[in-house]
Amino acid sequence: MNNRQLLHLLRERGIISNEGITTRGITNLKKHPLLWQKVIEQTCFLQYNANLRARIQCIIQGIIEQPTCTTCGKIVKMRTTGQFRNTFPTYCSNKCIANR
Ligand SMILES: [Zn+2]
Repeated sequence: MNNRQLLHLLRERGIISNEGITTRGITNLKKHPLLWQKVIEQTCFLQYNANLRARIQCIIQGIIEQPTCTTCGKIVKMRTTGQFRNTFPTYCSNKCIANR
């Protein structure tokens, strides 16, 4: 299954809409174990214990590689709160921002 087909299924099952993950999206996904499995498989490149929300965001945004810090190359995790929610930071720490 490619990214486009998976997006189509997620939309069909009410997990995502044009606005992103729906209010009941995660609850709905958990009712579909095979689809859940596909989400995990399609985002297996992530090298940290990312939650379902972050994984679905990667699929929506077409992210196919683990993002890393521009300065030191360490893996970075998707922001889950705040203004930059659902994006990966460019740097892993303030030290790496200072040393850019
Ligand atoms: Zn770094």
